[in-house]
Amino acid sequence: MPGKNGVPLDIGSYWEASVGEIFEDPSLMGSAQFDVAVIGAGYAGLSAALRLAEAGSSVCVLDARRVGWGASGRNGGFCCFGGTKLSESDLMKRFGLAEAQKFVLYQIEAIEKVAKRLDAWKLDVDRHSKGEMMLAHRPSELEAFQQEAALLKKYFGYQPKLYSKAELAERGIAGPEFHGGLHVPFGFALNPMKYVQGLAAKVREKGGRIFSRSPVVAIERDANRWSLALPDGSVIARKVILAGNGYADENVPDWLHGRTPPAMSSVVVTRPLTESELAAQGWTSDLMAADTRTLLHYFRLLPDRRFLFGTRGGIFETEQALDAMQRRGRADFDRMFPEWRHVETEYSWYGHVCLTRNLTPYVGPVPDMEGVFAAMAWHGSGIAMASLSGEKIADLALGKIKQADLPAAMSRPFDRFPFPALRQAYLQGAYLWYGFRDR
Ligand SMILES: Cc1cc2nc3c(=O)[nH]c(=O)nc-3n(C[C@H](O)[C@H](O)[C@H](O)COP(=O)(O)OP(=O)(O)OC[C@H]3O[C@@H](n4cnc5c(N)ncnc54)[C@H](O)[C@@H]3O)c2cc1C
Repeated sequence: MPGKNGVPLDIGSYWEASVGEIFEDPSLMGSAQFDVAVIGAGYAGLSAALRLAEAGSSVCVLDARRVGWGASGRNGGFCCFGGTKLSESDLMKRFGLAEAQKFVLYQIEAIEKVAKRLDAWKLDVDRHSKGEMMLAHRPSELEAFQQEAALLKKYFGYQPKLYSKAELAERGIAGPEFHGGLHVPFGFALNPMKYVQGLAAKVREKGGRIFSRSPVVAIERDANRWSLALPDGSVIARKVILAGNGYADENVPDWLHGRTPPAMSSVVVTRPLTESELAAQGWTSDLMAADTRTLLHYFRLLPDRRFLFGTRGGIFETEQALDAMQRRGRADFDRMFPEWRHVETEYSWYGHVCLTRNLTPYVGPVPDMEGVFAAMAWHGSGIAMASLSGEKIADLALGKIKQADLPAAMSRPFDRFPFPALRQAYLQGAYLWYGFRDR
């Protein structure tokens, strides 16, 4: 449905339906001045704004659409490890053991940050699942599970628990493609739209201003400040935080150009399943789960007994490509949960994720733009990472912490792709290869 000025605001997601009417902030009209202007009203931008408002700065959050319109209102709701495509052993190779440990601890802190907020704010976000179950999509992954569990215990101080196929079935986790499991003891599931709305309410309560339907179309230096141009106005600010993630306009500012490929993830949610349907499939667990494919599937039984099933791997945003992505997602679901083939999909939607050539996120200053900072590139897992990193980027902007206080894995600005016009082709090639390898 179009918004007040003709901008479509509905995603068609289950999350929107679950919250009913969504509060809409005014759009920015005319000119305004703030200490800090934040671009993007998702977890990262709102977390930054909250921190800044609590520190006494005047702050605005500008969103091209509205709070949670980006990935923060349309994700799978897995509050878990993430932010990178590198495994722990890759991190150790690239950054050394101490930095890899620092980054893993940061991810745990990020999950705890969300949990603490929910408790402190008494936010009901339909929370469930103690930790996350990784599921071996073929028997050969079981050996990798054992190696991973041993590595995590030796170097990172925690040990995920291994489950055989039979033990999984006893826990209500069964399917023809699940050959064993590795339970990671961190993380939980939530309704992402309820969380992002609760976060925005806190920003407003602390005096931060949020503007919806306010796209920033240019950022220019104005003496020792920055001038942000919008269709119906402008904002002057001493500091700017970029938090557009997969929805960022890659020319605002120019620095972003050619640095992120256009990647997507899609979700289907079924109608509520009956007890006998759950029993027929053998899936009754409320644990959130993902398989071991590189182009992974993520899934969970929602508190109201609907099943949420997510797929990675979309590139093109044409109607035809999007239809094909949804059809592929549903076909994967039918294959992995054959007893539910007859169960109708009631909601399906997709969204942009932000990947980089470096495969790591960035939280730090934008090179050659004094006073402009970026917190983005969560590689498809940003509920926890964007929440904590929003606070960290605010602390950096305020001079309360230094870049060296953050893990090295998130301190390097992401590189531009060579021949950026070929990014879709690169990604298509990578997805073909991963799809083949994942079989
Ligand atoms: C389908 C899907 C499933 C996912 N599942 C999970 C999951 O289960 N667990 C998990 O941890 N992560 C998941 N993710 C990723 C996670 O949702 C994101 O990493 C996270 O929400 C990013 O938050 P953010 O605040 O950085 O950006 P976003 O929430 O994407 O917000 C960016 C905002 O910036 C605005 N914006 C951009 N450019 C401008 C501009 N020039 N002017 C004004 N506004 C602008 C956009 O309108 C948008 O609202 C998923 C993502 C998708 C798409």
